[in-house]
Amino acid sequence: MTVIKRHRTRVVKIGAVRIGGAFPVAIQSMAKTKTAAVERTVAQIKRLAAAGCEIIRVAVKDEADARAIAAIKRQIRIPLVADIHFDWRLAIRAVDSGADKIRLNPGNIFKSKQVREVVAAAQQARIPIRVGLNSGSVRGAGDPVRRMVDSALVYTRAIERMNFDNLVVSLKASDAAGTVRAYREFSRHTSYPLHLGVTATGLPAEGVIKSSVAIGALLLDGIGDTIRISLTDTPEKEIQSARTLLQALGVRHFQHRIISCPTCGRCEVNLIKVVNQLQQALADRPLAGRAPLKVAVMGCVVNGPGESREADIGIAFGKKEGLLFKKGKPIRKIPVDNCVKVLLREMNL
Ligand code: SF4
Repeated sequence: MTVIKRHRTRVVKIGAVRIGGAFPVAIQSMAKTKTAAVERTVAQIKRLAAAGCEIIRVAVKDEADARAIAAIKRQIRIPLVADIHFDWRLAIRAVDSGADKIRLNPGNIFKSKQVREVVAAAQQARIPIRVGLNSGSVRGAGDPVRRMVDSALVYTRAIERMNFDNLVVSLKASDAAGTVRAYREFSRHTSYPLHLGVTATGLPAEGVIKSSVAIGALLLDGIGDTIRISLTDTPEKEIQSARTLLQALGVRHFQHRIISCPTCGRCEVNLIKVVNQLQQALADRPLAGRAPLKVAVMGCVVNGPGESREADIGIAFGKKEGLLFKKGKPIRKIPVDNCVKVLLREMNL
C-alpha cells in the first residue's frame, strides 16, 4: 500500500483533541440546531459524538447562543468550536463561555482593533483560532482562489504580529478544483494545521463526491489535519461520509475493510445481499485497537483467488457455495447461506 507522507504542521490543541503534526486527521461537523436551544443542541452533539464526531462547531449568532456554550459544554465530552461572523464581541463572549476554539471569518471580521481584542481573549484562555475563509465572503476583483490565499496570508500575518500563532486555517471554495488549488498554495507558505472542506456542496449525492474529490486529493498530497464534509443533510450523514472517506483513503481505520467485485453475468449468488450483511456485521464490531483486516468477497473464481491473495481472508463464489481463501490459499468450501457467519468466525469476530 502506498504510504502518504503528511506535511508536518504545528500541533494545535482543541480541548482534549490535538490536530496537526502526526496526530490523526480529526473528523468534525457542525450542529444544525439553534445553539441557544441547549437541550436539542446537546442531544444532537451526543448523537454525533457517538457516530464518530471528534470536534463540534456551533453557530453563534447572538448573545443567547454565546451564553448557551457554557451549559452545552457541561454536558458534552468533545471540544466545541464557536463559529463567529460579523460581530467580534460574540467571539469574546464565546471565549468567556468556555469555547475550545473560535472560528473567525476574515471576510467579515477584519478591523485590526476588533481582531486584536478577540486574539487577546483567545490568548488569555489559551485556545486556538481558526481563520476560516470561504471564497464567497472574500471581497475584491480577480481570481477568487488567489484572493482567498492572499487574504489568509495577510490575516494570519497580522495575527502573528499580535504575538499569537495558535492558529488553524481553512480555505473553502465551492468547487473541488478551487478548493484544492487554495490549500495547495497556502500550505506552501505556512505550517499551520489545515481544516479541509468544500463549502456549499449541496445534497449528499453531489456533495459527498465533490468533498471527497477535493479533500481526498489534498489528503493524498499529505495536506490536511482535520476535515468536515459539509452537506445539505443531517450532520450524522456528514460524519458517516467523513469516516468512509478517511477509511477509503487508508488515512484512518474504523472497521475491517471489505473489497467486493461489482458482479457480472458470471456471478450466480446474490452478492449484494451477502456484502450488505457482512458490512452491517462489521459495522457492529468496532476494531477496538485491532489492526483492520481486509476481506475480499468475489462473485466467481475468475478474480476471486487473485483478489483474495491481497486480502487477509477471501471468498470466491460458485453456484451454491464459496471457496474460502486465507492469504490467497484455498482453505475449504462453505455454503452461501452461512458464509457471513463463517467469515466472521474466521476473522475471530
Ligand atoms: S469476480 Fe467474477 S463475478 Fe465478479 S465481476 Fe469479476 S468476473 Fe464478474
